[in-house]
Amino acid sequence: MRLADSVGVSDPGRVRRRNEDAYVCEPPLFAVADGMGGAQAGELASRLAAAALREQRDDATADPETHLRSSIQEANRRIFARAATDPQVSGMGTTVTAAFVADGRVAVGHVGDSRAYRIRDGEVEQLTQDHSLVADLVRSGRLTPQEAEVHPQRSVITRALGTDAAVQVDSFSVDARPGDVFLLCSDGLTTMIDEAAVLKAVRKSSSLESAARALVQAANKSGGEDNVTVVLFSIADGDQEPLPAPARTSAAPDSTAPTIATPVTPNGGRPVAVPAPPASAGVRRERRVGRAVLVVVLVLVLFAALAGVALWGLSRAHFVGVGEGGRITVYEGVPWDLVGNVHLYREVYVSNLLAVQLTPEERQALLDHELVSEAEARDRIAVYERQAFPS
Ligand code: MN
Repeated sequence: MRLADSVGVSDPGRVRRRNEDAYVCEPPLFAVADGMGGAQAGELASRLAAAALREQRDDATADPETHLRSSIQEANRRIFARAATDPQVSGMGTTVTAAFVADGRVAVGHVGDSRAYRIRDGEVEQLTQDHSLVADLVRSGRLTPQEAEVHPQRSVITRALGTDAAVQVDSFSVDARPGDVFLLCSDGLTTMIDEAAVLKAVRKSSSLESAARALVQAANKSGGEDNVTVVLFSIADGDQEPLPAPARTSAAPDSTAPTIATPVTPNGGRPVAVPAPPASAGVRRERRVGRAVLVVVLVLVLFAALAGVALWGLSRAHFVGVGEGGRITVYEGVPWDLVGNVHLYREVYVSNLLAVQLTPEERQALLDHELVSEAEARDRIAVYERQAFPS
C-alpha cells in the first residue's frame, strides 16, 4: 500500500478578509487547522499547530496513533504557552485534524470540528466526530442532524488547542485500500456543501488537484462564508510508482468563479414567517366602501399592527450566543436564520470570553437562547468573565 497523490488547498472564502486556516501536506503526514481568536490570533494559533506537527513528523518512535496524539499535545502546549505570555493573542485557539499513513492504515487524531472523510467505492464516510455544540446536541437527541446544519451556533466548538494547559485528543485508525481517497477539511467546506456535493466534486475530477479546486469552488458558490481548506490524499496499488513530490497550492482568490454568491437552501431549513411591512400605501378609499373592501382594509390594518408588535418584540429581545472567533456575544433579536443568509439578530456586545473557556454545563446554561433583556444577558456573561479574567 502506498500513497498515490496528495494535495492541499486553502482559500479565504467570499466573506472573510483573513484566512485563519492552515494545513500540512507532507506525506505521510496531513493536517488541517482552523484558528480562532481576535485580530491575528486565529492565524497564529493554526500556524503554530501546523508547524508543531510538521516539525515532529519524523520523530515517530511509537505507533502512528500515539505519535499523532503526542504531536497534537505538544502543539497545544506551544499555543497555550504563547497565549499565556502574549496579551495580544490571549484566548486564541485552533482545531486540528491530522492523519498519518503507515502500514496499510491511516491514523487520525483530532480536536474540534475540522473533519476527516474516507471516500471508497463511490461513497463518502465521515470518520471524525465533531467536538461542537451542535454535535453534542445531536448526540443527546436535542437537535436533529438537519436542524444542526442550519443552527446559528453551528460553528461553536467545545474543544480546541491552545485554550487550556491540557487537551483531550481523539484518535483512531482505519484501514486503507487501493483507490481510497481521504479528505481532511475545515468547517468552511462542510457548512457550505453537503456530502453528496463533496462526492460529486471528487468524482467528476480527473486529478486530486482539480478535485481540491472543485471543492473550494463549490463552497464559494454556496456562499463561501468561512475560510475553506481541503487536504486530499489517495491510496495507490502496491506496485505503482512511489509517491511523487507533494503538490501544494497556496491560497489564491478564484477569479474565474462567478461573483454572485448563491446561498443554498439548507436541507430541513425552517423558514420563519416574516411579518410583511405595514401595508399603508395602496389602500384607496372609494366614496362608497363596499363590504368586501372594508374587510380587506380591516385585515390590512390588523396585519400592520401585528407586524409592528412583532418588530417591537424583536428589538426588545436579546439572547446570548457565540459570535465570530468563538466569542460569547449578546444579540438583539431572535436566534433564527432565515434561508438565504438572513439573520433575525444582530450583535450588541462581544465579550473577550470564548465559548471553549466554559465547561459543557456552563455552555448549556449560558447558550440556551432564552430571550431576555440586554442587561440580563450582559449580567449572565459577566459572571463567567469574572471567573475567566479575574482582575
Ligand atoms: Mn472555520
